[in-house]
Amino acid sequence: EILIEARHLSRRYGPTLAVSDVNLTLRKGEILGLLGPNGAGKSTTMKMLCGCLSPSQGEVLINGQSMQVKPEAAKRSLGYLPEQPPLYPEFNVDEYLGYCAGLHGISRAERVAAVTRAKQACGLSHMAKRNIANLSKGYQQRVGLAQAIIHRPPVIVLDEPTVGLDPIQIQEIRALIKELGREHSVILSSHILPEIQAVCSRVAIIDKGRIVFAEAMDVIQRES
Ligand code: ADP
Ligand code: ADP
Repeated sequence: EILIEARHLSRRYGPTLAVSDVNLTLRKGEILGLLGPNGAGKSTTMKMLCGCLSPSQGEVLINGQSMQVKPEAAKRSLGYLPEQPPLYPEFNVDEYLGYCAGLHGISRAERVAAVTRAKQACGLSHMAKRNIANLSKGYQQRVGLAQAIIHRPPVIVLDEPTVGLDPIQIQEIRALIKELGREHSVILSSHILPEIQAVCSRVAIIDKGRIVFAEAMDVIQRES
């Protein structure tokens, strides 16, 4: 069952061809890694997959429907953790997640339950009243993951989710992503092969805007 399909996606920024003819599929239950060096086109690809950036060419299908035609339905199916999520440091965790729930159209009556569920899933229950500014970077990233799942999307798109974290936080966030992968299909980007090996079931390698390799993870494990 294919949840997301990118067909011939390209994106220019002026003269720069950041992404060129990218084809990708995400199937139900997968954790797909998008691996590539800085500047390879990972963020640009992720933004197009979740509808935050329109492609110069090509299209994204969500559950077989073109995102360009039905953007609202697509947004419901996806949660997105950008590389630098806007976290509103003056909010506490409950306030912020409640606000995010509202943005997704979750009614007031259902918001408390949605926030409670997202906190539990991301190990944030004991941090509910803490201001986001006073959390460690690892916990701030948990808040970022919690906002990505607040509306229970089938798919979550995570852009470089462990960048800037210390080694222990990295292990914790990787474990949490694997946990979230039981409930959600996941696409995550990284420039670190061990990260992809630790978390993903399949990998696509992007270089200079092009997909150069896409296989099940065990193919790489065998060869390395
Ligand atoms: P990655 O996430 O793999 O580091 P990006 O998708 O951010 O790669 O960038 C791909 C290329 O597009 C890079 O050359 C980058 O400088 C360029 N780029 C990204 N965003 C913009 C932008 N808003 N304007 C101009 N160039 C951009
Ligand atoms: P990353 O590649 O680390 O994910 P981005 O490429 O998304 O980061 O860059 C962060 C911000 O800078 C984004 O708003 C992006 O659009 C912008 N940006 C990135 N590269 C360029 C560039 N070459 N020219 C102009 N803006 C850029």
